[in-house]
Amino acid sequence: MGWSEAAPFHSPTYLDESAGSVFYNVSKIFGPHVVGREYDTAAHLNKRLSIFKGNSFAKAAIEIAWWTLQSAITGTPLHRLLGGHARELPMGAAFDVQPTIDALLAKIQGAVDQGYPRIKLKAAPGWDLEMLRAVRAAFPKTTFHIDCNSGYTLDDLPLFKAMDSLGLVFIEQPLHYADILDHAELARSIQTPVCLDESIVSVKAAQQALQIGACKYINIKPSRIGGLANALAVHNMAADAGVPVWIGGMVESGIAISISLELATLPNFTYPGDLAPPARFFKDDLADSPPQMSSSLTMSPATGRLPGPNPGRLAELTKCHETVK
Ligand code: MG
Repeated sequence: MGWSEAAPFHSPTYLDESAGSVFYNVSKIFGPHVVGREYDTAAHLNKRLSIFKGNSFAKAAIEIAWWTLQSAITGTPLHRLLGGHARELPMGAAFDVQPTIDALLAKIQGAVDQGYPRIKLKAAPGWDLEMLRAVRAAFPKTTFHIDCNSGYTLDDLPLFKAMDSLGLVFIEQPLHYADILDHAELARSIQTPVCLDESIVSVKAAQQALQIGACKYINIKPSRIGGLANALAVHNMAADAGVPVWIGGMVESGIAISISLELATLPNFTYPGDLAPPARFFKDDLADSPPQMSSSLTMSPATGRLPGPNPGRLAELTKCHETVK
């Protein structure tokens, strides 16, 4: 038995997939196409899935299960199958848009007091330069980056130029969710590095982004990029280009977080990750024994089997299910 998790949002507000589209594609289209065959490698499975365009979350739901199943069958920790080595992984803190700048400063103070190695701030039109200037004035030495979730266009170039004096590590996904050309132009026009998240939905997208210099960092989310084989390919390609990667997450249970921790043991995951114990999002996590954060604000890959769902909680929380034969 192997478990995986794809966690697009309920509605297509992050990318163009949603919980409903993923459920439909996995249960009605992709699932029936892949069951009843043998797959020696993830590449073999991905080749079978490659007649379907896009839909990286739905593909990841199937592909990641191949890896966790392979890990269970061979008794090999997933990080070793992926080529990683068990290590403690530093995690950063993240803060959404807050009601006031004072409220944000108080939250940042809490994270600084706890010793988080870096802090991510969500930025959006109306919550950007003034906020960042206040934050930098209050915390001159703290490591920050901002995540714009595609909220801006190239018309905002003066805004991004003004941010150059604020010492951000990078600006994450400032422009359109499917763009790399404008990001490359922005990257040439400002000093602060650009990081891509939403735009990197495939190995091809990553390859082209690196080729044209659209980013100096890449956020890797296994389910956004179509699974772990793609994540590995992007990790290696970025390493060859001298571009560090870091692990990100969706609103995920301990099942997906555990899988991402295995991936993040690979050597080019050098910037502190964005995984947190699932308690950040859920009162009761779906996973039995979800991963925890240590007092040094690190998380570690599983020493044995990956956690599966707690059967009772799974039954209680299930909205719909489908058997594919
Ligand atoms: Mg992001």
